[in-house]
Amino acid sequence: FINQKKIRIHSPSGKTVIEFGRDNIVIAGPCAIESYEQLLETANSVKRSGANILRGGAFKPRTSPRSFSGLKKDGLEILKKVREITDMPVITEVMDIRDIDMIYETADILQIGSRNMQNFSLLKEIGKQDKPVMLKRGLSATINEWICSAEYIAAEGNENIIMCERGIRTYSDYTRNTMDISAIPVIKEKTGLPVIADPSHATGIRNLVEPMALASIVAGADGIMTEVHPEPEEALSDGEQSLTFDMFDEMMKKIDKIRKIN
Ligand code: PEP
Ligand code: MN
Repeated sequence: FINQKKIRIHSPSGKTVIEFGRDNIVIAGPCAIESYEQLLETANSVKRSGANILRGGAFKPRTSPRSFSGLKKDGLEILKKVREITDMPVITEVMDIRDIDMIYETADILQIGSRNMQNFSLLKEIGKQDKPVMLKRGLSATINEWICSAEYIAAEGNENIIMCERGIRTYSDYTRNTMDISAIPVIKEKTGLPVIADPSHATGIRNLVEPMALASIVAGADGIMTEVHPEPEEALSDGEQSLTFDMFDEMMKKIDKIRKIN
């Protein structure tokens, strides 16, 4: 399918190399970057617990235009500082072609959000970049539509694509989305690309993040991405699904055990 070389990401100092397919990938951090203190505190905590990539949105796609939509350029500056201080590679979302250059300066991985999975002009521009891209599954995308979107990126030359299952909309409305666990082995088999599971957006419920993270790893995911916040109740976005530092640490211990038996 896509002639992918192994995706390798270096920490800012170059000391640590993370290789998809070889290492247990754990991406963690807040939904949105809210302040320097919030991001630094979260990064230090998740790193101590074993996360190897920091996440944090500066440009946030929000359902309502009245919701907090990220600190934008200021958020990127915070992300850049925290990246250096903690020596963690970072991932952040690109929503608009016009922001690519600015985000490229800071991000180690470019994230395409669920709502933009079929924004073909954005996919084409991302395909021209020489940094890895994580393509989240569209809100209601079929497996085939999702793969076609990866092909749009690859067709422009960027074959360093990571697929992210983040739940899809079904009739079941107890959870925010329905996590499609079977998509993990299916995508791996059909594309050979690495797959990351995002149980935070898939469930929308803090207490369901750990069981779905564990299930994803057993199903063959290369890693997970979860939202973590110093004070989830105070979060400006997605607090209900954000883990506390302690919950994240507990989950990481279980992930380690599961990795060993897999
Ligand atoms: C995110 O991961 O920051 C996000 C907005 O998720 P999604 O695009 O899957 O809704
Ligand atoms: Mn979120």
